[in-house]
Amino acid sequence: MERLNGPARLMIVSDLDFTMVDHEDPENLSLLRFNALWEAYYRQDSLLVFSTGRSPTIYKQLRNEKPLLTPDITIMSVGTEIAYGESMVPDYGWVQCLNLNWDRDIVIQETAKFPQLIPQSDTEQRPHKVSFFLEKPKSLEVIKALAERLDKRWLDVKIIYSNGTALDVLPKGAGKGQALAYLLRKFKADGRMPLNSLVCGDSGNDAELFTIPEVYGVMVSNAQEELLQWHAENAKNNPNIIHASERCASGIIQAISKFTLGPNVSPRDIRDLRKCRVNNFSPGHEVVKFYLFYERWRRAELEKSDQLMQNLKSSFYPLGTFVHPSGTEQLMINCIDMMQRSYGDKQGKQYCVWLDRVSAAQIGSDAWLVKFDKWESTGEKRQSCLTTVLLTTKQAEDAFTWMHIHQTWLNGLEAKDQTTWYF
Ligand SMILES: [Mg+2]
Repeated sequence: MERLNGPARLMIVSDLDFTMVDHEDPENLSLLRFNALWEAYYRQDSLLVFSTGRSPTIYKQLRNEKPLLTPDITIMSVGTEIAYGESMVPDYGWVQCLNLNWDRDIVIQETAKFPQLIPQSDTEQRPHKVSFFLEKPKSLEVIKALAERLDKRWLDVKIIYSNGTALDVLPKGAGKGQALAYLLRKFKADGRMPLNSLVCGDSGNDAELFTIPEVYGVMVSNAQEELLQWHAENAKNNPNIIHASERCASGIIQAISKFTLGPNVSPRDIRDLRKCRVNNFSPGHEVVKFYLFYERWRRAELEKSDQLMQNLKSSFYPLGTFVHPSGTEQLMINCIDMMQRSYGDKQGKQYCVWLDRVSAAQIGSDAWLVKFDKWESTGEKRQSCLTTVLLTTKQAEDAFTWMHIHQTWLNGLEAKDQTTWYF
């Protein structure tokens, strides 16, 4: 949160499984569309929050499997754990709130009396969350009886049933909605209330997100029946909540457009990237655009044309150098020649490129230093480099010149074959 000087322009609070991440989309197309939109236009002045039922362990697994961006805030274990930044610093104030009138041992004792409740794995049992599998046909009856038993033990709990399979018992003051309300109270106290907030979800444990006042909400097209039913019974007349017609992250982009929250055309949806120059002139957009071109060139999704490469070269300073993550330094234009020869080398190989944590600092009247993590993945393998680019603007022209690029491998994410890592 310290990253921004003032209130966020937009705060997106999104569930992960089947909301940000579409597990039925092996190419992650909708997620990559969202990533490009976020890094090009929002990262600089907005906040990304993931709110998931996953524990830290399986949240990290998902980040290793899918091209997920680094969120500013991570809310895990159904709103019982809040962490900040890349290093995931826990919010101890929230832990203290949750300790009120919570006794995990009593929950364990009472739930043990229901043979229908099958405990989830150890990683999913958390200080303020006890989790089970429960089959749908028995669910209503079991939830009612369990609530009565815990009530008799004077415990204030919340029982959440999601996806027709998972049952979580949490402190009454926990849950995705309460965690978000807590964050908003903190922002308000700091005078940093986001100008707009959009919550995004698909299942039962997301319903609470839609009860927070003054937020926009999107239920993605593939939302579960339990969420749609909750909405029909509780929020049908709220014009700030929509049921998108598109799945997962594409539904989120649709909501940004519907509620006019800011730019809503992902650079990935623009076939001819040269055409989007004028309206979107920013360093973040410039680097996202270049790496999209790079991906498309190597996937042979562009016409193989010398002219395209000449145009690209013209935006690089002829004497500018590139420090490759292996440590070697060479002229950037030589690297473009190598890239030109690699046309189509990644065709049909599930190859994709995305940027994360793009930040730009203006260091002179016409100069920008842009930093980001550049990711490449081919099938299961992935590599990443911390990348710094020096850009200058040409006078009286809405165009950047690339002056210098410097890359270093992120720990454990080096490419085995460094000769095909061109930028
Ligand atoms: Mg979900």
